Amino acid sequence: MQEDEVHQRLLALLGPEGVSWDEATLRRYASDALRPSRAFPGVETLVSRPQWVARPRNVPEVQGLVRLANEAQVPLIPFGGGSGLMGGALSPCGGIVVDLKGLDRVRRISPEDRTATAEAGVVLQRLEEQLNPAGLMLGHDPWTLPVATVGGAISTNSLGYRGAQYGSMGQQVLGIEAVLPTGEVVQTRAVPKSSTGVSLHQLFIGAEGCLGLVTAATLQVFPLPEHRVLQAVDFPSFEAGFGVIQEMFSRGLVPALVELGEEFETALPPGWGRQRHVAGGAQLFLAFEGIREIAQAQARLARRVWQRAGGARRDPRIARRFWERRHDAAERYLRHIQEAGVAPYLQPWQPPVVDYLHVALPASQVLEYRRRSLALAAAAGLQVRECGLWNRPELFSLVVVDAEGPTGRLGQGMDALLALAQDLGGSMEYCHGVGVRLAHLMEREHGAGLTALRRIKHALDPQGILNPGKLAL
Ligand SMILES: Cc1cc2nc3c(=O)[nH]c(=O)nc-3n(C[C@H](O)[C@H](O)[C@H](O)COP(=O)(O)OP(=O)(O)OC[C@H]3O[C@@H](n4cnc5c(N)ncnc54)[C@H](O)[C@@H]3O)c2cc1C
Repeated sequence: MQEDEVHQRLLALLGPEGVSWDEATLRRYASDALRPSRAFPGVETLVSRPQWVARPRNVPEVQGLVRLANEAQVPLIPFGGGSGLMGGALSPCGGIVVDLKGLDRVRRISPEDRTATAEAGVVLQRLEEQLNPAGLMLGHDPWTLPVATVGGAISTNSLGYRGAQYGSMGQQVLGIEAVLPTGEVVQTRAVPKSSTGVSLHQLFIGAEGCLGLVTAATLQVFPLPEHRVLQAVDFPSFEAGFGVIQEMFSRGLVPALVELGEEFETALPPGWGRQRHVAGGAQLFLAFEGIREIAQAQARLARRVWQRAGGARRDPRIARRFWERRHDAAERYLRHIQEAGVAPYLQPWQPPVVDYLHVALPASQVLEYRRRSLALAAAAGLQVRECGLWNRPELFSLVVVDAEGPTGRLGQGMDALLALAQDLGGSMEYCHGVGVRLAHLMEREHGAGLTALRRIKHALDPQGILNPGKLAL
């Protein structure tokens, strides 16, 4: 089908208000939150440029788009809040970006079922605000609560601040409604447990829009906590803090939040943030929430564990500030888009100097990974700026810097660090997805499993129209 015919068919389907092709809109939707300065093969030649932005408002319009894309063999790229960090919403093959934020109805909140059914384009914060008056809340609370959508969070299987207690976004999905790449609508039964074969809704969790367009989901929601206890603790070393988290989990404590951070003095190339004073040791933030007596008892037990391990309590105002500011980065991200009309990270390619990783490891391998990754980075001429744990003892992250500026060695160094996590029995990413950033390592991650995933993709999407180039599918 000629481009002009696709254009006319889009207009006929969505009306002029539902389709854009002007330069400013295409530029805005060409970028998510992947920094082009991150270090992965092909980043220097990556060009993202959609031909159209389509804004469906309901499921039949989404079906119409999928059918049109199949007929015309044009890629469809689902787009939610555009805050994904891996380039999952980029358009490296051109095509139609499908902005799903027009599917914005909260269809049902059921206090009795403890569920909320929301369309894919509902921004998480808006859902949270509608749940709160009913005494309910989402269990998913990422930094990007004010930006990310229900569909985007499911499609990246995102993790948030309360992940230690409530799990990832995917773990809160009871049922899904999705439009398949060939146009049929699948609606799975929204119950917490069934035993009727493979759980079909799992097919769309973390699938980055490659297997279907999520149009709505029923989520498990939770009672608003009666009480919350926040703690901020200093440790002389990362190992001491890690030991405390391990003991808490081994004893069955269930914190809502665990964040352990350690910073190192590093040189930073100009323009890459402020040079910080690094106090040394490691800092732990904990939150316990829920029924007052239970939250208080858990916090008391945790305090005993960290006091015995040499932890020093910090000013409670520090813990409060940490909690209150947890969404500030996303607010800044939103403000930038509103003011500049483009994502802050859409910029000409810059040679990589800073990158980060979030790996999942068996808990027994975390300290070994930290030790070996510090050595590996140093041997590669790189510096580790931060390392940390988030939510669980198994979830480890690093920020890595090429302090001499762009030398070309960051990419190789990052690959070696990601491979080390896989070699220690871990997974190369625990919350941001794969997108284009990690696609080159999917074979190493999944082995023969990648062939199986590709067969599933081909069976569902024989023409490969849904989000090509992502997830290595
Ligand atoms: C400052 C900042 C902080 C962040 N903090 C966190 C954090 O705390 N935890 C975390 O996990 N992540 C975090 N992220 C990453 C990001 O917010 C999450 O990945 C989020 O879940 C993406 O949601 P979105 O709606 O913005 O999705 P998008 O970026 O629009 O899309 C993400 C992927 O999902 C696909 N997609 C979107 N909607 C649909 C749909 N309806 N159906 C099918 N596919 C779809 C897209 O094609 C893309 O592949 C952060 C990002 C930034 C910039």
